[in-house]
Amino acid sequence: VRDANQFTVTALGSGSKGNATLIRINDTLLLVDNGFSCKEIESRLQQRGVSAEQITAILVTHEHSDHFKGVPTLSHKYQIPVHMNLGTSLHKNAAGLKHLHLFNSHQSFKIDGITVNPVSVPHDSREACQFVFECNQQKVGLLTDLGHITPYVTEQYQDCDILLLEFNHQRELLLAGPYPASLKSRVTGNYGHLCNVQASEFLTEAICHKLQYLVAMHLSEENNKTELVKESINNQKLNAQTQVILADQNQGFDWITVQ
Ligand SMILES: [Zn+2]
Ligand SMILES: [Zn+2]
Repeated sequence: VRDANQFTVTALGSGSKGNATLIRINDTLLLVDNGFSCKEIESRLQQRGVSAEQITAILVTHEHSDHFKGVPTLSHKYQIPVHMNLGTSLHKNAAGLKHLHLFNSHQSFKIDGITVNPVSVPHDSREACQFVFECNQQKVGLLTDLGHITPYVTEQYQDCDILLLEFNHQRELLLAGPYPASLKSRVTGNYGHLCNVQASEFLTEAICHKLQYLVAMHLSEENNKTELVKESINNQKLNAQTQVILADQNQGFDWITVQ
């Protein structure tokens, strides 16, 4: 088997219109969030050469519809276990889930050989968390949907081989843009989303010699520009071997594998 025992990761879409990320190692295939309809996610899975029947488990970060909308239908149709914390499970969107497994946001747990570390993040949902995955001394960090970086977050995301990091907006663009004032203050607030500057500052804290891939995630189509994201990443001292990828709403990004 190609890429045996190596983490391999893809996003089927990333942004406020829908998120879904796949983390695979050997036969274990984890889907983090599903903000897409059943038809849509089935076709996006197919584009990446996998099918819903292969999904071992769905993990949910929080109940916002760009992450949660398609979770119940997909889980019911294919009888896939869904893991989330108690706060998220108490939201009405999660009512009636048949294959629900609760985790404690402050405790790691295992799915097959993969250690899942939930990380609590400041975001305006009931109990937002993000995830760090570990297996065979490899580490994949997913970090989106947070208003600011906390010391705890910085500590949890050290030494990743693959880091999927939110670059939501350029502050100046957002403030000058068409959003109503309430939405502007929500997005830029402490419980909103990371801007380019916050994300690139985080890189100086979390960058390490191991980092092979940095993927910019959850870019705002309205309030960001790919050149600005690239610029803010280039301003950081990335290692020469670190590849930078920008995920987008329609295509996400194709499979990448820890070497
Ligand atoms: Zn989101
Ligand atoms: Zn959110």
